[in-house]
Amino acid sequence: MSTAPDYPSARLHIAGEWRDAAGHKTAPVMNPATEEVIGTVPLATTADLDDALDAAEQGFRTWRSTPVTRRSEILHRAADLIAERAADIGRGMTLEQGKPLKEAVGEATRTADTLRWHIEDARRAYGRTIPAAPGTLLSVRREPIGPVAAFVPWNFPVGGPNRKISSALAAGCSMIIKGSEETPATAAALVACYTDAGLPAGVLNLVFGEPADVSARLIASPVTRLVAFTGSVPVGKLLAAKAGEVMKPSLMELGGHAPVIVCADADPARAARSAARAKFFNAGQVCTSPSRFLVHESRYEDFTAAFVKATEALVVGDGLDAATTMGPLANERRLAAAERLTADAVRRGATVRTGGLRADRAGYFFAPTVLTDVAADAQVMSEEPFAPLAPIVPFSDLDSALAVANSLPFGLAAYGFTDSAATAEKLSAELEAGILSINHCGGSVHEAPSGGVKDSGYGREGGPEALDSYLVTKRVSHLLAG
Ligand code: NAD
Repeated sequence: MSTAPDYPSARLHIAGEWRDAAGHKTAPVMNPATEEVIGTVPLATTADLDDALDAAEQGFRTWRSTPVTRRSEILHRAADLIAERAADIGRGMTLEQGKPLKEAVGEATRTADTLRWHIEDARRAYGRTIPAAPGTLLSVRREPIGPVAAFVPWNFPVGGPNRKISSALAAGCSMIIKGSEETPATAAALVACYTDAGLPAGVLNLVFGEPADVSARLIASPVTRLVAFTGSVPVGKLLAAKAGEVMKPSLMELGGHAPVIVCADADPARAARSAARAKFFNAGQVCTSPSRFLVHESRYEDFTAAFVKATEALVVGDGLDAATTMGPLANERRLAAAERLTADAVRRGATVRTGGLRADRAGYFFAPTVLTDVAADAQVMSEEPFAPLAPIVPFSDLDSALAVANSLPFGLAAYGFTDSAATAEKLSAELEAGILSINHCGGSVHEAPSGGVKDSGYGREGGPEALDSYLVTKRVSHLLAG
């Protein structure tokens, strides 16, 4: 198998050591911009997973009894290493995931800040004392929940894993994380920053493998005390059910299908520019990507024209080219989905205003696409595209737009554009979503919680709420005098 000379093939990290899988089974890693095999990923065996479980159990004992000041020193050093290595991490990420290099390096740099934020937040994970009967000390402590089994996808190869690792380790937990088999080098480069910073053996273990086998083993084991997953709704439901069988809490960051409501009193050109930027970021492969555009009929044509203009200004290409503003889709599955959803919408009467086709070149490139006259029953209106597709439909009154927005089982992100404070408040109150943005389509920030309602999952990442999943509350009443 040929591999790219500058692509660092990943290894497993278990009990403080980098190693190949027992049995040396591997899978190929592809560059989505060229469809070439650039490296391999080791697939863990049951024996590897059991070693990781033993390591995480031991690692938890070590880490929970490490003073918080020492934990903080090590994690701050890890953040420094992530920042120092951001350029290399970004290059590996672009090779295996496809996103523009500038975005990849930016993701790595932000990741260092996210880690710093969570370290400082965990230092303030205070308990409390409660007035009680004389001679009794009544207190509430917050303690790390234990070893965490974490599963992350391929769309944010460094930011995704780090959201879980940073909160868990800052809280005092150990972790076994299954990185994505499609973006393994980035996950390994991130874990190396932690281990090179002096993290004790066993605190952070990295595995790859057959996803269903790995999750079944790690979730069923009594060693792990929390399941943390980011990915699709069907897989999330499967893992949450498995966790439920063994009475284990879980943190579920699942998919969405974010509506954007552009009201009659909004500036359509400003809304279109903001929404298009967010829509095509990471080629639409973001769980919060705006993906259903509901525009008041009086603004419909102005919004669509400005959106098409912003779409056609994108430069689609290999993420390593400096001019590229949108890379390929990360894998063949997303390309197939983009083609299927577009064909279905057109079959039901949609007009392709721009794009609509796979690019005539190697790589999983799909032209950024704007669809109008999209029928309500087109698949793209109810199935998360996770691709650069923007279906735009008109509405005549806000209540009907809200009904459409809330009609799906998802509730992750939602967006609204309006110049009226009263309408902004109505949108804030009535849109069923965990993440709502008014008059902008900015991304997630580590200071504030992100997460979904309905089928989009439960638990929050980011903000002080992020620690809640990784800590348990213990009530202690201590009779001082008998
Ligand atoms: P998928 O459902 O096949 O897989 C999603 C993720 O779950 C992948 O990382 C995969 O390795 C993992 N996975 C699959 N089966 C698993 C199992 N039994 N145990 C543990 N992990 C398992 O989808 P996909 O084709 O990789 O991605 C497409 C869909 O996934 C999108 O439509 C989107 O809804 C969702 N997705 C969401 C996010 C997010 O940030 N919430 C990220 C990536 C993908």
